Amino acid sequence: MHHQHAVVTGGAGFVGSHLCTALLAQGTAVTCVDDLSTADPRTVGHLRGHPGFTMVEADVREPFDVAPQADLVLHFASPASPADYLRLPLHTLETGSLGTRNALLLARRHGARFVLASTSEVYGDPREHPQRESYWGHVNPVGPRSVYDEAKRFGEALTMAEAQVHGTDAGIVRLFNTYGARMRGYDGRAVPTFIRQALAGEPLTVAGDGTQTRSLTYVDDTVRGVLAMAASDLRGPVNIGNPHEISMLDLATTVIRLTGSRSTVRHIERPTDDPTVRCPDIALARDRLGWEPRVRAAEGLARTIAWYREQGSARGREHEPDRAARKAA
Ligand code: NAD
Repeated sequence: MHHQHAVVTGGAGFVGSHLCTALLAQGTAVTCVDDLSTADPRTVGHLRGHPGFTMVEADVREPFDVAPQADLVLHFASPASPADYLRLPLHTLETGSLGTRNALLLARRHGARFVLASTSEVYGDPREHPQRESYWGHVNPVGPRSVYDEAKRFGEALTMAEAQVHGTDAGIVRLFNTYGARMRGYDGRAVPTFIRQALAGEPLTVAGDGTQTRSLTYVDDTVRGVLAMAASDLRGPVNIGNPHEISMLDLATTVIRLTGSRSTVRHIERPTDDPTVRCPDIALARDRLGWEPRVRAAEGLARTIAWYREQGSARGREHEPDRAARKAA
């Protein structure tokens, strides 16, 4: 289904900016609603001036509306990096709860398709591997990561209830770790951190012994999956992720090799409740959305490294301290 006008909350963030770009490329007008709390404003710099693109600086924790009529709401607003949600715990919980409610209300008012960006973090430190959508997860409800994990779990429950009670055409995607151009170099996530460190010739800081695994999805694949979900009437939840699993130590050495860096690896303390394994079962996405990832890790990482080389790996550093101070309240 072709949408005329999409609202992308969190559209100035990493994944959101790629979604806005892809929607505009397919002829869908886009209103990006973002409070810039974890965004580098330059992320959507290339879209400013595009006739189909409107930027609204607003906090989705407060009710909001847009004009003209929207037929798609992609709810992506939320701090996503552990470094961000640990410094913005209440903001994160409120964005996942009040923000999701407000985005659902917008979709209901406009009769729009709604897609919630949920996360593999709803599986916590999983006891089932790989993770199917039917797995309920293993989340510490009061640990430091709970502000993110439980906000997303609540957002999922709210989305299901909204669809059931009001018949809103709503769906849920559970995104696994996504990487690519436009991630902030200092957002604390493994891929930008390792690339920044490798390009600077600094040691790559691997948490614990580095045997913990993640499944990394290149952002173009994630965007295709989200847009397939948007075009369907599937409720889900649906896993969108690359089943190729890689240990953090392998990721670090791959980045060193691909950058040609002389960096070494330095092991640092592993964060509390850091998941040991992470890998999606994507049978549902394959069957119902005809989706599977196409970009292999070596290729996606090479493209991402090329982008950081072009941009300068310190991108995002300068705005970080003041944003943190302004938004920490
Ligand atoms: P990001 O931090 O780059 O982008 C999030 C955006 O949301 C930012 O632009 C931020 O300013 C905005 N935002 C935060 N709170 C807001 C609020 N209250 N009102 C308005 N805007 C607000 O993160 P990302 O990696 O692009 O993640 C985007 C979405 O995808 C998030 O919902 C995240 O949970 C989900 N997700 C991402 C990944 C990943 O690996 N990138 C994995 C799973 C899920």
